[in-house]
Amino acid sequence: MLRDAVRVLADERIAPRAAEIDRTAEFPQDVKDLLAEHDILALPFATEYGGLGGELLNVCLAIEQISRVCATSGLILAVQELAAIPIALFGTTEQKQEWLPELAAGRKLIAFALTEAEAGSDAASARTTAKKDGDDYVINGSKRFISQGSVADVLTVFAVTDVEADRHDRLSCFIVDTSTPGFKVERVEHKMGIRGSPTAELSFTNVRVPKSNLIGEEGQGFTIAMRTFDRSRPGIAAQAVGIAQGALETATRYAKERKQFGRAIGEFQMIQGLLADMDAQTEAARQLLYKACIEIDAGAADASRWAALCKLVAGDTAMRVTTDAVQVLGGYGYIDEFPVERMMRDAKITQLYEGTQQIQRLVIARSLLGRS
Ligand SMILES: Cc1cc2nc3c(=O)[nH]c(=O)nc-3n(C[C@H](O)[C@H](O)[C@H](O)COP(=O)(O)OP(=O)(O)OC[C@H]3O[C@@H](n4cnc5c(N)ncnc54)[C@H](O)[C@@H]3O)c2cc1C
Repeated sequence: MLRDAVRVLADERIAPRAAEIDRTAEFPQDVKDLLAEHDILALPFATEYGGLGGELLNVCLAIEQISRVCATSGLILAVQELAAIPIALFGTTEQKQEWLPELAAGRKLIAFALTEAEAGSDAASARTTAKKDGDDYVINGSKRFISQGSVADVLTVFAVTDVEADRHDRLSCFIVDTSTPGFKVERVEHKMGIRGSPTAELSFTNVRVPKSNLIGEEGQGFTIAMRTFDRSRPGIAAQAVGIAQGALETATRYAKERKQFGRAIGEFQMIQGLLADMDAQTEAARQLLYKACIEIDAGAADASRWAALCKLVAGDTAMRVTTDAVQVLGGYGYIDEFPVERMMRDAKITQLYEGTQQIQRLVIARSLLGRS
């Protein structure tokens, strides 16, 4: 029921906006309001904090259906989930009570600030610092590539609290209200895909936050980030499956209508082969995603492996299927009269963010072989 309801909403209200969102590269505030109004932003949150239960499978079903028509719009829900996970999993009751109901209602947007210019895949080498000063921490540094960083009301920020500590014990995680003096949006990137999702560079100059904004313990930041990815990577896999499904549907429709050599191109076996492979690959990625969600929701000890497996397979599937969709449409696939060129550009990011595909392979291999 949830999947079908979101699909109808996406088809009727979001699909007609998708091309314009891509063209203007403006954050779709109207779509965010629509998702809030229909309680879709409440999906990742527990009922006691105004949410709809927080089951990962439900969140992913919704991200998939929205991304099927507009990957930028699907990312609004994915980022709201991602950035709130540190609070939901490691926050105090007071922190949860203060922030989660606002986020679940969509009255506030949150962003996840881990990446820095010199710390991408190697997140543990972040340089932004948080120094204790009386009852506060003072944050200095900058973050790069932060999705929704320029429109967020609040951030979960990872900063070094102990420069001397072991690599994985240096970071801590903080809640930072973006109205705090010293916080600045330096710029928003010009991008290949997910163009309506603002990807921002953020700077922190003596940003003072009370110590009650520390999430979990000092030094726990790296662990918080990794546990967060265990729940958020399936969201990116869901975005990827949705993009692939959208491309498959467009290509299938086109193959029935487009005539060459006096026949619908769908009657040519080579086109049939492309479509059949696209369907098989998309369905396989979808089933792996759902299985991963079920395992993670059930508290699997190897949650990191499941999260990495589904993101790796779904991201590569989205890239392959959207590329093949452009092929099915021929020259028309390459122009913006049809959505598949946008879907191909959007698909690429699912192989890059929340850990590149190479990093997913490292996570899977470590789970198999053990960390050396
Ligand atoms: C549009 C967009 C949105 C983003 N949103 C967010 C966000 O909301 N919050 C956030 O914190 N970050 C975000 N990111 C950052 C994203 O997660 C990083 O870009 C990503 O983790 C890769 O880091 P990097 O770009 O520095 O690449 P690098 O780490 O420099 O990697 C370059 C290449 O080297 C490979 N590589 C690196 N290390 C290894 C290794 N050990 N073994 C094998 N290969 C390796 C990579 O796979 C890649 O192919 C976003 C990025 C983009 C582009």
